[in-house]
Amino acid sequence: MADRPLLMLDVDGPIAPYGGFFRPRGYRTHRVPSQTWRQRQLDKGVTDPKPLRVRLNRTHGPSLLALPYDLVWATAWCAEVDEHLAPLLGLPRLPYVNWESMFHKDPDGLHWKTRQLVCWADQQPFAWVDDEIGPQDTEWIAAHHPGPALTLKVDPRYGLRPAHFAQLADWAQEIAR
Ligand SMILES: [Mg+2]
Repeated sequence: MADRPLLMLDVDGPIAPYGGFFRPRGYRTHRVPSQTWRQRQLDKGVTDPKPLRVRLNRTHGPSLLALPYDLVWATAWCAEVDEHLAPLLGLPRLPYVNWESMFHKDPDGLHWKTRQLVCWADQQPFAWVDDEIGPQDTEWIAAHHPGPALTLKVDPRYGLRPAHFAQLADWAQEIAR
């Protein structure tokens, strides 16, 4: 459906929690052979790095697909998310934002994704789910994106929780009215 909002999804934090003392309930730990991560470890001088450890919740795939959104990966994993994570979540191949630049410092203190997401959305309504959204990002999006936009900041220790899914469903319904 063309009029469904986009759901721009970050991975590390919302989908793959990190930084918590315990593994959140419902998650399993996977070892993922990410080439990008391996190269980063080699560059740091780690010899023979182990595959990256990622915690995922299998119910997230079906729960995301059930939301009235068009899903888009908005993550530094780029194409590797389809290759390594989507099958573990039960998700099909999805479009991903092909960043022009990653991890750069923004002159106005915005997240490096913010301007690119607004550009990518191209006036379509969108929700952005990420653990690194700041108030300045939400303000900038409200001022520069011509359609409705929701920024949903997720605690990276716990990842996406049922309340987030409920909020996303409510927002989609609200803007469809
Ligand atoms: Mg993140």
